[in-house]
Amino acid sequence: MGIVVQKFGGTSVGSIERIKNVANRVINTVNNGDKVVVVVSAMGKSTDELVSLAKGISQKPSKREMDMLLTTGEQVTISLLVMALQEKGYDAVSLTGWQAGIITEPCHSDARINNFNETRISSHLAAGKIVIVAGFQGVTDDGEITTLGRGGSDTTAVALAAGLKADRCDIFTDVTGVFTTDPRVVKGARKLSSISYDEMLELANLGAGVLHPRAVEFAKNYHVKLSVRSSMVEEEGTIIEEEVSMEENLVVRGLAFESNVTKISVCSMPNNLSGLSNLFTTLAANNINVDIIIQNVSESENTNISFSIHSEKLAETLEVLEANRKQLQFEEVRYESGLAKVSIVGSGMISNPGVAGQMFKVLSDNGIFIKMVSTSEIKVSTVLDQSDMVKAVEVLHEAFDLANVKIPQINA
Ligand code: ADP
Ligand code: ASP
Ligand code: MG
Repeated sequence: MGIVVQKFGGTSVGSIERIKNVANRVINTVNNGDKVVVVVSAMGKSTDELVSLAKGISQKPSKREMDMLLTTGEQVTISLLVMALQEKGYDAVSLTGWQAGIITEPCHSDARINNFNETRISSHLAAGKIVIVAGFQGVTDDGEITTLGRGGSDTTAVALAAGLKADRCDIFTDVTGVFTTDPRVVKGARKLSSISYDEMLELANLGAGVLHPRAVEFAKNYHVKLSVRSSMVEEEGTIIEEEVSMEENLVVRGLAFESNVTKISVCSMPNNLSGLSNLFTTLAANNINVDIIIQNVSESENTNISFSIHSEKLAETLEVLEANRKQLQFEEVRYESGLAKVSIVGSGMISNPGVAGQMFKVLSDNGIFIKMVSTSEIKVSTVLDQSDMVKAVEVLHEAFDLANVKIPQINA
């Protein structure tokens, strides 16, 4: 008898009917002889609704109170799901994040899980109960309630699976698996039968919302057998595993994209040894998360440095730069909003030179102007106009033949 962790996202628990459907899926697993721990999200769009309630009161609500508010969403679902299971004659118990033993760093709104004390869940499982845990939340050593960042219920599920040494962790969602790109945007997107942790981590970090990046990180570090599948349709999903066989490897396995990117250029900064470090340590000290960085080559005394940020951080970034103008000694700050990032990901790139060039050619052949570029061993990201984003994704999906490739079978 093994332990299985199952996670159901917002859409999958979006109504009473759907919660009853989840109860049936959980019961099927229990009837297969497994002990089951279920992690659930808040119903439907209720986290967004709670955010807008707060915005009706304050444009800058305190992070502690936001966590207090948002964690109520998941608490609704856990109790309703337990009631649905009890109605069908099954013994189940609901636990909030802190009751489940999820300890996080002392940081509100985007906390990392530091520890998981499995005693309480284990004793409920030993007593034959189905355990239903609220996703996305934890508690600090000081007893403060925290959240794990939007989409963080995936991370709760994988952390529990790692700590309980579960046989597998299944993420049930509103699509049938991980696709070559978002199937809601590109009609020809194809479901992958498997993908490596590293590729999935890049895709998740680059905007593919299907999995929370930290969930993939946890799965990779603790060797959790992770899959993504549909909560509505009985169909094989996608397995995320250590390595997908090399000979069948695709050069590009997926495409990710995100909007709301702003490019900031800090102009005429002194071109000296400490210029770069001064600028970026100042930004980091003020919690400004910088993505792509470009330093223009310059022979003169002054240089220009550009970097990209999430557009949400624009006002704050401009304030920080202005407040540090004297120390950083720049002349002017320019910015361009309304940009997007489009990335191609695939571990096959390591052994295939020329992929970046091919990407740039496809974009330029389609009249799409690239404003910034960044690469790693297994990805190339480009920043371009947001109005070109969907077209860029479509032409790249086509050019790298993602709609037609033979997808490798899951390794036995
Ligand atoms: P849940 O509420 O179940 O956590 P999410 O909305 O967080 O669901 O994630 C599922 C969504 O992720 C899909 O509806 C889809 O639009 C989006 N998505 C983005 N990229 C991908 C991809 N590569 N494969 C599958 N889904 C993707
Ligand atoms: N309810 C939270 C959110 O909407 C967490 C989650 O669903 O994973 O972001
Ligand atoms: Mg999600």
